[in-house]
Amino acid sequence: MTVVDVHIHLAEFTREKIEEFVSRGYILVGVAEDYETSLKVLELRDSYPENVKACVGIHPWSLRNLEDYTRELELVSQLLPDADCVGEVGLDKKFVPETFHQQLAVFRELAGRAVERGVPLNVHSAGAWREVLEVLGELGAKKVVLHWWTGPLNLLLELSRRGYFVSVNAALKVQEKSRVIAREAPLDALLTESDGPYEYRGLSLSPSLIPEALQIIAQIKGLAVDELERAIYRNFTRVFTA
Ligand SMILES: [Zn+2]
Repeated sequence: MTVVDVHIHLAEFTREKIEEFVSRGYILVGVAEDYETSLKVLELRDSYPENVKACVGIHPWSLRNLEDYTRELELVSQLLPDADCVGEVGLDKKFVPETFHQQLAVFRELAGRAVERGVPLNVHSAGAWREVLEVLGELGAKKVVLHWWTGPLNLLLELSRRGYFVSVNAALKVQEKSRVIAREAPLDALLTESDGPYEYRGLSLSPSLIPEALQIIAQIKGLAVDELERAIYRNFTRVFTA
C-alpha cells in the first residue's frame, strides 16, 4: 500500500523522521512557508527524489512576520523553475484577516506563475473559500489541491466540476466537517494529506496517521480500503505526475 501525503511541512521534520517515512514508501508532497523553507524542501526533494515532491511558496500566515513581502516574492519566484509545485499559498480570512490585501497580491502572483508553468497548486483557503476559487478561476488554474478543505458544500460541487481536488487529513477523527467533506467529495476529487507537524485538538498530525485516516474514509464512503488507496494514488498521479 502506498501512503500519499499531498501536504506536509517537510522543513519542520528532522531528516531522521523523513527517512523513516521514505523507508515505508510514503509519497510526500512538501510545502513551504517562505523562501528559507522553500529552499529546504527543494533540498529534501533532491535527497529523496523517488518519494518527495517539492512545492515552493509563501504561506498566508507568513505575511505577519515578513517585513517586505515583495522581496520574499522575488526570491521565491526565482526558485520556481526548480519546483514541482507551488504552495503553500492561498488566502485566509479566518486566522489572519488583517493581511488579506498582501495575501491577495502574493497568491495572485505565485498562482499565476504556477499556471504559466503548468505545475500544481497546493492551496490554503481558511475562511476564504469563495475568494480562493475566484482567483483560481480568473487565472484559469487547472491542477489544484485545496488542502484541509472544510468549506461550504455547494462550493465542493463547483470545485470538483473544475477538476480540483480536496485533501483530508487525520483531523477527521475529531472534526465533524472533515468527515462530511470526505463523504461528500467525489472519489475522483479526493486526496490524503497530513499537514504535519501541525497540532490539532490533541492530534500531532503526521503521515503516520494517514493509514488510520484511510480506514475511516473507506468506512464513510462504503469502500474497501485498498479500493480507496488505489483511487487516491491515481488522483495523486493525475495532479503531480501528469
Ligand atoms: Zn499547511
